[in-house]
Amino acid sequence: METIQGGSAGEYDSSSLFRLGCERKNEMPGVDYKAVQSRVPMARVLQLLGFVASGATGEQVRGPCPVHCSQSPRSRSFSVHLARDVCRCFKCGFAGNQIQLWAALNKMTVYEAAVELCRQAGVEVPWIKRW
Ligand SMILES: [Zn+2]
Repeated sequence: METIQGGSAGEYDSSSLFRLGCERKNEMPGVDYKAVQSRVPMARVLQLLGFVASGATGEQVRGPCPVHCSQSPRSRSFSVHLARDVCRCFKCGFAGNQIQLWAALNKMTVYEAAVELCRQAGVEVPWIKRW
């Protein structure tokens, strides 16, 4: 009777996979971006930006693009999908969520933008607690 050598050799080392995600040196606490998006929805960010829509269809709002500083108030190049928390400009090509939008406008990192947005909106920053 042959016995197949089982055991340690074939065991799946899940910790190596986990380590990949932690290679980034980051001594600051993480931010839960998804939670930032739900706490500070796109509509709130547009409000903070003083965005004035030139048109709206259902969940979609259009207006002058704040990223490339569209001068015409009737411009419709900037399209926002409120329910999906995404926006896109057909002129300058900007596309992203409200955190990326804030980062682009204020020339900061997405991390800084997420923290700043929460402060501006008066909600608590959803920090990710590391162990
Ligand atoms: Zn634009």
